[in-house]
Amino acid sequence: MKEQFILRHADNGVWYGIFSHFEAHGLIHGISTRLHGYSTSPFNSLNLGLHTGDTRETVLRNRSLFAAAIGINPEAVVTAQQVHEDTITIVSADDRGSGAKDYSRAFSSTDALATIEPGVPLMLFYADCVPVLFFDPVRRVTAISHAGWKGTVSRIAAKTLTKLQAEFNVNPKDCLIGIGPSIGQCCYEVDQTVINRLQQEFTNTWSNFTLQKNNRWQFDLWELNRRQLLEVGASEDNIVVSGICTSCNTQLYYSHRAEHGTTGRLAAVVQL
Ligand SMILES: [Zn+2]
Repeated sequence: MKEQFILRHADNGVWYGIFSHFEAHGLIHGISTRLHGYSTSPFNSLNLGLHTGDTRETVLRNRSLFAAAIGINPEAVVTAQQVHEDTITIVSADDRGSGAKDYSRAFSSTDALATIEPGVPLMLFYADCVPVLFFDPVRRVTAISHAGWKGTVSRIAAKTLTKLQAEFNVNPKDCLIGIGPSIGQCCYEVDQTVINRLQQEFTNTWSNFTLQKNNRWQFDLWELNRRQLLEVGASEDNIVVSGICTSCNTQLYYSHRAEHGTTGRLAAVVQL
């Protein structure tokens, strides 16, 4: 059977997505949808981001709902203040709860989290940016990264895998990887600034990730993340791309682009 991204419905009403190759190894994980939460418009309804302008109390209620659906302890969740850069933080058991209830206590300037400790849920937030989830069933290590165009061009996904190799002796070939719902090439028009950076970093291959339409380009974040992971040793068979565009599916997902910057955040979480 081909490994895939599947939507699940929890007993408490929450809908979330899972990757079948992670589930087969018992990794606790999930990517939220916006359905069945407490937030009102424009954050309706399962907004999980504390930095959006939504009320803190409502977001914490939503986080508890999502945590219950996935089977994690909401008090133990570790989060980050994401800044579209390439810092990867290794999380220990002592960090449990960092940012679970207060944005100010989340890891600052961090766009990827990794751990070898069981019982430490790593959670990052998204509205169009690409969630990349990692799990090595051999070394029992997990990680998560946040890749918008800046993170993608800075190769944060590849750097996360390389960091797992350096820190935990992960063989990149063993690592299972999931690329979650995010803005697809269908909807991701970018300007010259983005194209310039892309050309700088990917001199010979940049055109493989772009489609030109009149004077605009459409950028394929999924494929560039997938390619850079293959370049650092990931196995093609271990990478599952959900193929779901957040901007095409705003009834299910938050989209910064489609909703003109004011919207909620999805969360992706992994826990050993
Ligand atoms: Zn789309």
